[in-house]
Amino acid sequence: MIFLDYASATPVSKTAKTAMEPYFSEKFFNPSAPYLAAKRAREDYEKAKANLAHTIGAKADDLIITSGATEANKLAFSAATGEVLILATEHASIIENSKKYPTKIIKVDKTGLIDLADFKQKLTKETTFVSIALANNELGTIQPLAEVAEIIRKERENRLIKGNPLPLIFHSDASQAMSLVPISVARLGVDLLTINSAKVYGPKGVGALYQGHQVKLQPITEGGGQEKGLRSGTENVPGLVGFAAAAVEAKEHQNGARKHYKQLVKILKDELEKSKIEPIFLGNKKHQLANFCPVCFPGVDAERVIYRLEEDEIYLSTGAACAASKGEKSHVLKAIGLTDEEIAGSLRISLGKDNTEEDMKFAGQKIVAAVEKELQFSK
Ligand code: PLP
Repeated sequence: MIFLDYASATPVSKTAKTAMEPYFSEKFFNPSAPYLAAKRAREDYEKAKANLAHTIGAKADDLIITSGATEANKLAFSAATGEVLILATEHASIIENSKKYPTKIIKVDKTGLIDLADFKQKLTKETTFVSIALANNELGTIQPLAEVAEIIRKERENRLIKGNPLPLIFHSDASQAMSLVPISVARLGVDLLTINSAKVYGPKGVGALYQGHQVKLQPITEGGGQEKGLRSGTENVPGLVGFAAAAVEAKEHQNGARKHYKQLVKILKDELEKSKIEPIFLGNKKHQLANFCPVCFPGVDAERVIYRLEEDEIYLSTGAACAASKGEKSHVLKAIGLTDEEIAGSLRISLGKDNTEEDMKFAGQKIVAAVEKELQFSK
């Protein structure tokens, strides 16, 4: 099998799996229980939280552990008190939450990068919440969040001068970026940051929201008062322990991984380019996650290409797994100006730990063969 859809899921790393194992059975205790064994589980939970927080330059107390990025994004939106600004290419979980507020959509250019002029124009004295993903989940385009934060800082300064008390909160979903981009919440200038275990070789169903000190959030569940009262429910101890171990491991290997993926993507691109199928590579050459290789073959039915490749046990996708499962056209590819025909001919290829140079050559040749067959078929 050659798996080329790591943007949708990553296998749990050995380190994460080993770290988690004791907490399923012998250390299964509820961290809120009063006896010593449970107190030890609490200590381990808090230690894992501190380790996870450290990977983004934060403290344990700044994190609220959730059931994934979808839930973290929902919690983040509880800081919105009125007008919201989101980027046109945001994940479905951001778009759906934004629908509860008056929302303006910030444009992107044809590589998926934020249009800062459009952002400046749409950011007004009424804006309460801005959400821009650090890296996009279909194109891998990495946004200049520090520049966005600076614009937001100036708007806050303006409000102070004019006596406008409306809070302005800056949130970013870093789900896709975390494994390959060095993250420091201070350097990014965000107030809220979503992170996702499922994309960094940790277990699925675990995520976290970083909460800056000045940000007020509303509980998303009520009950036992866990996670600072914002997300009640018995703590997922193995989940967090696995997430933290995977995040620490990813951070340690980030530089090497980036170089490795660049080399692998080059091999794949060379293989596609030396054929006659004329690939159009999508996203931003300079600001793109190193493991992403989204590509378009106009006139080809990408879904049929995927089925053909599946016969060779090569797995990739046309876009975000959630949009694909609903049979929807990618709003991300629409936002960068692709035509319906180009969208229908687009593949999202995203690499991961287990891919090798041989895989890239083999997958490249198979993609070329599948696209050629489809091109003949459509004539
Ligand atoms: N945000 C982004 C950018 C994602 O890529 C994903 C997952 O595909 C999510 C949020 C949702 O994550 P989860 O399904 O783990 O809640």
